[in-house]
Amino acid sequence: MLNLEKSAAAFAEAKELMPGGVNSPVRSYKSVDCNPPFIDHALGDKIYDIDGNEYIDYVGSWGPMVVGHAHPKVVKALQEAATRGTSYGAPTCIESDLAKLVMEVYPSIETIRMVNSGTEATMSALRLARGYTGREKIVKFIGCYHGHSDSLLVNAGSGMATFGVPSSPGVTKGTAQDTISVPYNDEEAITKVMEEVGDEVAAVIVEPVAGNMGLVLPKQGYLKKLRDLTEKHGALLIFDEVMCGFRASLGGAQAAYGITPDLTCLGKIIGGGLPVAAYGGRKDIMAKVSPSGPVYQAGTLSGNPLAMTAGLATLQIITAEPEYGKADYSRELTLKTKKLLLGWQEKAKAAGVAIQAHQAGSMFGIFFSEKDVLNYEDSCNADQEKFKVWFKAMLEQGIYLAPSQFETLFMSGAHTDEDIDRTIAAAEKAFAAVAAM
Ligand code: PMP
Repeated sequence: MLNLEKSAAAFAEAKELMPGGVNSPVRSYKSVDCNPPFIDHALGDKIYDIDGNEYIDYVGSWGPMVVGHAHPKVVKALQEAATRGTSYGAPTCIESDLAKLVMEVYPSIETIRMVNSGTEATMSALRLARGYTGREKIVKFIGCYHGHSDSLLVNAGSGMATFGVPSSPGVTKGTAQDTISVPYNDEEAITKVMEEVGDEVAAVIVEPVAGNMGLVLPKQGYLKKLRDLTEKHGALLIFDEVMCGFRASLGGAQAAYGITPDLTCLGKIIGGGLPVAAYGGRKDIMAKVSPSGPVYQAGTLSGNPLAMTAGLATLQIITAEPEYGKADYSRELTLKTKKLLLGWQEKAKAAGVAIQAHQAGSMFGIFFSEKDVLNYEDSCNADQEKFKVWFKAMLEQGIYLAPSQFETLFMSGAHTDEDIDRTIAAAEKAFAAVAAM
């Protein structure tokens, strides 16, 4: 039995200090009805709790730790940067260095603005889309998460297109009424909405590979349909690649599916584990952002030198600049992920447990479902009770997974073949536990 005594005491104390004991809800393990391990440190492919337990980590801080934890090159760069001061609130060359690297890999980004979180990136991209088009409505997809800004905390539940019901107290009806939610992967639903109100829509924002309802891939032709519809109605297409950027493929979902959005939001990875995100895209649109244009957006810590340093060091490794010498980092991650998922599928089948396994590059996940999962409704219909049993059985065996079926898992360059074999062996026992329910 996993000993989590110290973590339990730390959690009890934290609950007196922070809402639910955490600074971001999913960390509370509420959805799996157990206490979270409190983390002491992480190195490479492993994460260690304050009780001394070691886990193979497939959460990777929810995506950014693509080169593994505390990679020596990232740590060295950060140590050097820290001796030069932690923040200036003034321009630096490293902001341009990171911008250039990101734009090389994402040619649709002709101008970029660095911010501090994915929430800020999407919120600012929407303000820009509204400022640029002079329109007020936005369209999002049910089950896609774009951070917690008011206009995007509108969801409306599954089913048909619904107009503006806030999904959190504190989001005003006025804000919510400009957000239209439509089911993901449903060409008819989005076509109908655009036919009805497309000329009032500033932007359609989508997770082109959806990672916040579990991992759900776009159907063939779906992203092209969104591109065509937005073009037809003069609305902007915003790809929120905060999670799938540098993950679905090196060039993100836009490269993997060959679709060029007007604006892209990136996050997580481009800060290598420090708080960074960005939005960018067509030059003529980005020219509206202050101070070159009238759409206001700012940040005291935006472009922070430590955060830029960690991001640059991380991206240099995965984009295989000659100095780092890896042939194709993304491809290697994709192959490792495939191996792991094949193993899981085999063990699930042998145990007689129906799963749907999804992969996009180095992102992966499974659903306990007989039928494929194409949208939020399908994801909600997958068996959450089975997930809880599976999750706990994996944790007991030292495999650290996201504590909710509505999340995605991530492979890193630090994961070894031995990790993958161990994770497949653990899955065999965890599927047996599910089968015995
Ligand atoms: N967009 C997507 C697709 C995300 O996955 C997330 C966070 N998981 C966000 C936006 C918000 O990013 P942050 O938590 O950095 O505000």
